[in-house]
Amino acid sequence: MVPRVGIVGAGQLAQMSLAPAAALGIDLRILAASQSDSAAKYFPVTIGDYKDLDQLIAFAEECDVLTFEHELVPNGHVRRLEELGKTVRPSSQTLLHAQDKLHMRKSFSEIDLPQPRWHVVRSSNEITSYPVILKSITGGYDGRGVQLITNQSEAELALASWGAALCEEVVDFDRELAIMIARSPHDQVSIWAVTETVQREGICTQTITPAPHISETTALQAQEIALAIAEHIQLIGVMAVELFDVRGDLLINEIALRPHNSGHWTIEGAVTSQFEQHLRAVLDLPLGSTTLTNSWAVMGNVLGGEQGDLYRPYLHLFARDPELKVHNYAKEVRPGRKVGHVSAVGDDLEDLRARVTHAVDYISGVISEG
Ligand code: ADP
Repeated sequence: MVPRVGIVGAGQLAQMSLAPAAALGIDLRILAASQSDSAAKYFPVTIGDYKDLDQLIAFAEECDVLTFEHELVPNGHVRRLEELGKTVRPSSQTLLHAQDKLHMRKSFSEIDLPQPRWHVVRSSNEITSYPVILKSITGGYDGRGVQLITNQSEAELALASWGAALCEEVVDFDRELAIMIARSPHDQVSIWAVTETVQREGICTQTITPAPHISETTALQAQEIALAIAEHIQLIGVMAVELFDVRGDLLINEIALRPHNSGHWTIEGAVTSQFEQHLRAVLDLPLGSTTLTNSWAVMGNVLGGEQGDLYRPYLHLFARDPELKVHNYAKEVRPGRKVGHVSAVGDDLEDLRARVTHAVDYISGVISEG
């Protein structure tokens, strides 16, 4: 009998899970906050509030395996589901590493994984020199909850709203990298090539895979870090590890325990996408090949701009570049919001980057022709 997988959350990650779930004939259920969520537009979802334990339990009752497209479900709720005998993947213990940055730093220190120097602060007196990076312990995403702090009054302001915070050294990195890995309950593990994530103001704008000019040693270190984390936290499903590249040496920034923006390239760029792999892993099926389909895969995030209609650009864009792939999250366009992404795969990296940049700028309305 086909097991039923429940995904909590119906944003673009659930939306992009629909095609592989349909291809594999997986019986899927999705818990959406509202009908306007990305996946809800294409799939008959269950509407409910994941913060409400009774509603979450009712949804879990309908599913054989429960998984998540975000880290916002209260950890206590996930523990309760486990106590009730529900199969939740990843588990509450694993999930905590992505929900609580202090827990993650402590846990990774236990096995001596390379991280920025860090300590917990509750008052600005505990910061002895500036600048530092302050991070809210819970609840940050897309750079919110992360601040570069250059003096005591800035620290006081941040701590007034956060209470306690994680205080990290400002890492003087050359670039940011990410690596995606999947692990199944059978302890099968699969890893994709290392990705460079190009960032602007704390938001990833483009990814390039494999990371250009990466040495064998650095690529191997990234794999070893991802494997060590996966084993240590007993990962089930897909995980993204965000890394700082400091002259070829890697430090861990943070992890996500689900398909992630830095793995969107896998849809066109790898034999098995992160979305399919996540489904395979949570169902304890053998994992798929992560081999690249082309020499390079470039992904560009479309951030909301002036243009509200993302469909209109299709005509010009598709005529101009028949090899380009566009993913539209069917969201209301708001400035800076991730509303879609484009991908291009091939042999000529500079050409791919130029085409992806053009497409992103054209869709978001930064440029109007060309
Ligand atoms: P979020 O959870 O909001 O994605 P991150 O922890 O990934 O936050 O941080 C957002 C960005 O802030 C990172 O991509 C990086 O550019 C910068 N950053 C985070 N930590 C540090 C650090 N210790 N040193 C320097 N830059 C950092």
